[in-house]
Amino acid sequence: MMRVAVLSVHTSPLEQPGTGDAGGMNVYIVQTATRMARRGIEVEIFTRATSSDLPPVAELAPGVKVRHVVAGPFEGLGKEELPGQLCAFTAGVLRAEARHEPGHYDVVHSHYWLSGQVGWLARERWGVPLVHTAHTLAKVKNANLALRDTPEPRMRVIGEEQVVAEADMLVANTDVEAAELVKLYDADPAKVQVVPPGVDLDLFTPGDRDAARAALGLRPDDLVLTFVGRIQPLKAPDVLLHSAAELLRRAPGLRERLVVQVVGGPSGTGVKTPEELKRLAGELGITDVVRFLPPQGGEHLARVYRAADVVAVPSHNESFGLVALEAQACGTPVVAAAVGGLPVAVRDGVSGVLVDGHDPVAWARALESVVLHPAHREELAVNAVGHARRFSWDRTTDSLLAGYARARDVFREEVFA
Ligand code: UDP
Repeated sequence: MMRVAVLSVHTSPLEQPGTGDAGGMNVYIVQTATRMARRGIEVEIFTRATSSDLPPVAELAPGVKVRHVVAGPFEGLGKEELPGQLCAFTAGVLRAEARHEPGHYDVVHSHYWLSGQVGWLARERWGVPLVHTAHTLAKVKNANLALRDTPEPRMRVIGEEQVVAEADMLVANTDVEAAELVKLYDADPAKVQVVPPGVDLDLFTPGDRDAARAALGLRPDDLVLTFVGRIQPLKAPDVLLHSAAELLRRAPGLRERLVVQVVGGPSGTGVKTPEELKRLAGELGITDVVRFLPPQGGEHLARVYRAADVVAVPSHNESFGLVALEAQACGTPVVAAAVGGLPVAVRDGVSGVLVDGHDPVAWARALESVVLHPAHREELAVNAVGHARRFSWDRTTDSLLAGYARARDVFREEVFA
């Protein structure tokens, strides 16, 4: 039987995504771990304990355990302080493994650079290959910063470079990310594997738009523009507010029908809280059209997507953008920034519209082109469902397992070289 140690230091797969440090990475880990377990693979996910109430081990799903590692104080430790706790975390991981027979795990898969640092040592100690998924890269993020956003520190860049050099296999979401790893981080192209992320096609299905609207207190003829995600500068929910204001300047008659829904919780630094966005809505004179909802999960989230005329993903950078796929799977076209993995997640002119840059005028035009042209919107909506169906977590899991097998070959070659 195969056993995989998954490292997720800074955020737990048990958390609700859409706020704080929990986002697409959490979804990715939960979806792939549960599918590996269904294929008879044992998965243990190591994450930092953030409350004294947490049991040392919890079952996420049959065959998937979450191990809570004590490393530093439970509460009040920010992500930026975690590098100081990596030694304690690594000690906890190594101790847990030492209770088993030698050779317990077959592969270690780290997510995000902090986990990569832990995986590096685990690889050495256990004699197993390290597979690493970066999820985001500091050099890419720093080259695409939102105005007034805080750049990622050099410490992270160096840490990422080290993990790239040590890992036996690097998993990239798209060809673009694979190229970034090679060009910016000097990764060996033979050690980079592109694994497209998936979407939960059982949960995110097209459905009755009016029923979804009724559940959310929206009217059938409202024009609903929706943002779903963590509220942080990189995700640029402010761009949607600016474009909505621009839309109203161009067509004041829309005011009665326009609704901008912002779904998600605060995260990180900068324009981070719904309060700051509320203030911006006030400055733009659109408070009456903007609604905020806390992070939603499961069927509630599917309803949010179905209720929207369009889902906007205006991010300054996005290594993939799961929200874009989820919205399309629900039959909602997406207007997205043409950055990072979004041109893969959205087919420009087919399942949605890609916009270059973040100019509110260009964004207002793109949003108008979808929401004010029902026949065109309908065509995009149909194609969106088809496009989303090309992705699935089962396929992601197949590719990851192929990546694990390649990583074992790479590892063996290196050890016996
Ligand atoms: N999400 C959620 N509830 C929310 C907002 C977001 O469950 O209210 C989830 C969303 O379904 C998606 C993930 O958070 O799967 C965000 O992933 P994405 O790749 O879009 O962005 P990331 O957070 O990784 O930057």
